[in-house]
Amino acid sequence: MEEITLKGKVIINGVIKLESGIHIGGVKETLKIGGTDNPVIKDKNDNIFIPGSSLKGKIRSLLEKKDGKISYDKRGNALPCNCGKCEICKIFGPHDSKNIQEPVRIIVRDAYLELNGKKPYEYLEIKPENTIDRVKGTTVKGGIRNIERVVAGSKFKFEVVFNIYKDGDKVLDTFQKRI
Ligand SMILES: [Zn+2]
Repeated sequence: MEEITLKGKVIINGVIKLESGIHIGGVKETLKIGGTDNPVIKDKNDNIFIPGSSLKGKIRSLLEKKDGKISYDKRGNALPCNCGKCEICKIFGPHDSKNIQEPVRIIVRDAYLELNGKKPYEYLEIKPENTIDRVKGTTVKGGIRNIERVVAGSKFKFEVVFNIYKDGDKVLDTFQKRI
């Protein structure tokens, strides 16, 4: 069996700037017709953040889409690769942890909103949205939801820790070239 030891870490930092307002959902939301509370996810101190797990999933599905390798379930949800052998699986981990062959390379940290002297609520807006029937893809009559969103132009601090496990680990090159 090949010996695997941690050789080092590469930290990749960046900023995510919102080009449009977005709702960042956290807890499973209940569908509330005409309700006012579909809040964006916040930590216990009311700081607004994008969960690392959501970012990791998003980066992964974008890379898989680029490769044309992505498959979808019946409802159109993207299904991550599960082979455990391809570069995407090596970087992100296979979808099913039973297929794991090597330690997962990346840790995606929670990305926190940059406040720049403002209060978190100054970055929030409420936008009424039609409720969409997810199965039929049509709007629900009279179903207006008030959605809390983070405004366009907001910036989030982004950090990925990339663990290097082998000399000349090519997986990192691939990741940096493509991200
Ligand atoms: Zn795979």
